[in-house]
Amino acid sequence: MSEIIISPRRSRQRKPKRARQFVLIVLLLLVAGWFLWPENSSESLVQDGLAEIGQDAGNFYLDVPPEPPVVQETLPPSTIVHDIEPGDSLIGIFTRFDLDCGALNLILEADEPLLALDILRPGNTLTFHLDEESRCLEEMELFIHPGNRVVYRRADDGSFAYEEIILPGDWQIDIVEGEINGSFYLSAINAGLSEKEAAQITRLFKEQIVFSRDIRAGDRFQVVRTLQFVDETFTGQSRIEGVRILRRNRVHSAFLCEDGNYYDQNGESLMRAFLRYPTARRYRISSSFNPARRHPVTGRVAPHNGTDFAMPTGTPVLSTGDGVVTRVSNHPYAGKYIEIRHGGDYVTRYLHLHRILVNKGQSVKRGERIALSGNTGRSTGPHLHFELHVRGRPVNPMKADIPMTASVPRERRAQFDQRVTELLDLMEGRREQIALR
Ligand SMILES: [Zn+2]
Repeated sequence: MSEIIISPRRSRQRKPKRARQFVLIVLLLLVAGWFLWPENSSESLVQDGLAEIGQDAGNFYLDVPPEPPVVQETLPPSTIVHDIEPGDSLIGIFTRFDLDCGALNLILEADEPLLALDILRPGNTLTFHLDEESRCLEEMELFIHPGNRVVYRRADDGSFAYEEIILPGDWQIDIVEGEINGSFYLSAINAGLSEKEAAQITRLFKEQIVFSRDIRAGDRFQVVRTLQFVDETFTGQSRIEGVRILRRNRVHSAFLCEDGNYYDQNGESLMRAFLRYPTARRYRISSSFNPARRHPVTGRVAPHNGTDFAMPTGTPVLSTGDGVVTRVSNHPYAGKYIEIRHGGDYVTRYLHLHRILVNKGQSVKRGERIALSGNTGRSTGPHLHFELHVRGRPVNPMKADIPMTASVPRERRAQFDQRVTELLDLMEGRREQIALR
């Protein structure tokens, strides 16, 4: 409301003293009237003052654009659709649309096993359904891509529960090839690969090729990838099935095996073996992976997507494989946590940390100390919650088929060799299609 007081100063001009006093009295009355007028009571001031709330909230909640809510005209007033923009945060969006913030905490609680809401990207869409009378939030949908949505619904007891909807879609084969001029990364992108794919290939061969030194102009690459379509719309999801880098006197190859790991043409692993345990010593498992666990704090059934190890706060936490840190975050329920993307289809997460020792984007080695364990977020005692995801799904880290050996497991060998033959035929143009999985 500062403008009301500032504006008369700006417009002040030389006037006789009495006239100036008169103007001041009128202004004072106007200001008093503004605050006393019933329509301008606190409720509507909140509406008018959204810009101010946005600025205050900015300290906490990243950059909230100080704009009034935009409700699409064709939708019923009880539905709000918001396309995620750069800098958006969930809490900022809830503030902007004046949504019930009690619901926000319940939704974050429901999202703890998934942590899908912790990363909102442009291209994602949030749809809110409100109760028509109470204007309370009943349902929120996060659209990630056409093959993946998460719906958070209010249950009878007032809490929220999530449902993840994953569509298998149709996977189509695509071959990308090109000559390397300058950097492999840029040549790959110029040939049509995404930044993520180019970076993944660079990582796959990092033990074998120093791209800045070993690659000469005229070296070539061949990539077979599969692309996911849902209702004929590309979802943005792809998988590298096979790669060859053809240097003047050496060929490097990587082929995806059914176990989610990449091996070369001879079946030798391109990834170093994983560690089963994220600590140097073994600690007691206080809670196992369990898709239908009753939560120890809330008493509700919620999936436990990891393994809990009881350990004193400050215990060094180790990355179980080589990889890149993709998340460093602090969540009200998961606490301080780290996510690491490994070669192939593996992701690991480490929750409730005391201190994080790595940064987002940093490369880490298997066995590298990445954090000290703790008791942050909602936790019943000092422990490490450790998750392993294979192809986007959490699996039991104590039982999963992870790369523990240096070559293709014996029972998968025949199948792998058959796949390599098919992929090589595709690369050489001797075949046009392979079985998609
Ligand atoms: Zn846990």
